Amino acid sequence: TLSDRLTSVLQNLRGKGKLSDADIDATAREIRIALLEADVALPVVREFISHIKERAKGEEVSQALNPAQQVIKIVNEELVAILGGETRRLNLAKNPPTVIMLAGLQGSGKTTLAGKLATWLKKQGHAPLLVACDLQRPNAVTQLQVVGERAGVATFAPEPGNGVGDPVDVAKRSIEEAKHAQHDVVVVDTAGRLGVDEELMRQAADIRDAVEPDETLFVVDAMIGQDAVTTAEAFRDGVGFTGVVLTKLDGDARGGAALSVRQVTGEPILFASNGEKLEDFDVFHPDRMASRILGMGDMLTLIEQAEQAFDQEKAEQAAAKLGTGDLTLEDFLEQMLAVRKMGPIGNLLGMLPGAGQMKDQLSQVDDKQLDRLQAIIRGMTPDERANPKLINASRRQRIARGSGVAVREVNDLVNRFYDARKMMQQMAGRFGFGGGSATKK
Ligand code: GDP
Ligand code: MG
Repeated sequence: TLSDRLTSVLQNLRGKGKLSDADIDATAREIRIALLEADVALPVVREFISHIKERAKGEEVSQALNPAQQVIKIVNEELVAILGGETRRLNLAKNPPTVIMLAGLQGSGKTTLAGKLATWLKKQGHAPLLVACDLQRPNAVTQLQVVGERAGVATFAPEPGNGVGDPVDVAKRSIEEAKHAQHDVVVVDTAGRLGVDEELMRQAADIRDAVEPDETLFVVDAMIGQDAVTTAEAFRDGVGFTGVVLTKLDGDARGGAALSVRQVTGEPILFASNGEKLEDFDVFHPDRMASRILGMGDMLTLIEQAEQAFDQEKAEQAAAKLGTGDLTLEDFLEQMLAVRKMGPIGNLLGMLPGAGQMKDQLSQVDDKQLDRLQAIIRGMTPDERANPKLINASRRQRIARGSGVAVREVNDLVNRFYDARKMMQQMAGRFGFGGGSATKK
């Protein structure tokens, strides 16, 4: 995955003050391979890589982040951009009903989506009507009716026994029905074929002309990877669409289709389907998808918080000490205070990659305990803080008395400090934290 590939290159960036061209090239190469492996279309990969390179080279050296984090940040921002940036909302008609038409290949998940959309719309206070315009397959109408019942919404379908029926006619009449029965949103389910063909496109275009949709959603199975691009282009040229829905994201962790479709067609992804149940559906969030593709969600959160809360000068001092193991209790105290600025400590600790085993131990550190730890450290002399080895049994008693805690707590703190120092050194080694966030734990 992208995160695996990046982790290996990013380790080499550790400790370097600035991104060199060679670093950038090496990183770009890994990203390229990862994207191709994720089945992203080649032109999209090329453009993406050139953006990354350009940005990385022009980037100011960050004060708050180390080079590895800086690269992650750039890659993430470019991923978000390529996925559409902001979440795009559904266009609603000024004069109801809003008409939403679904188009896509057979099996892409249109009928399932109709039910999901209806459920979602209902939750938003709308009164949707599902319209069965797939009269191609014998069971398609029944399937939509079942889906509608499950979602608790009405379905409009041709009367049974009248032969095959004309989907354009059904579509037209459904709008009248919607007005009549006060449905403010109409979701038109259409037929698909296994491959793109002319008749399919013509029928979809005829339905489109009959109902003049406010949104035409191109529904595409994310598991088809870069084939999504050719299909999307065919539908764009044959029917035209205003938005994309990615389905079966539960079966594809790589996000190749998402990256390709958006970039190639220029149309935004509005929704994502990730399962067969009605609830397996959500508005598409480019930032969440990016972080999923990158596979470093926790790291990204950490980067964001580090940028917000980090006290640069102290960071540098602490970072310099990390490598040499010279971290003092004074630093420890400062870092705990910095951590506190960033919010509930428990959340933060859980975010550190590799902190899994230590989570239990760490999560016991709550804010109240932090106060006590702070009191203990403040009760030490500067010498003791700088050189914890000095803190022998009699000093521990003095410190305990002075800060109003039990000797046991002083012992705990000193032990915890040694553990923390060891952990930080390990993490600095593993994740290239030299310039920044090693202090965030
Ligand atoms: P249509 O031909 O475009 O109407 O596609 P359907 O809605 O009939 O879906 C085809 C198959 O894909 C069905 O078996 C659905 O249950 C399944 N399906 C649809 N959406 C999803 C999804 O997001 N995840 C998974 N795992 N299956 C899905
Ligand atoms: Mg269908």
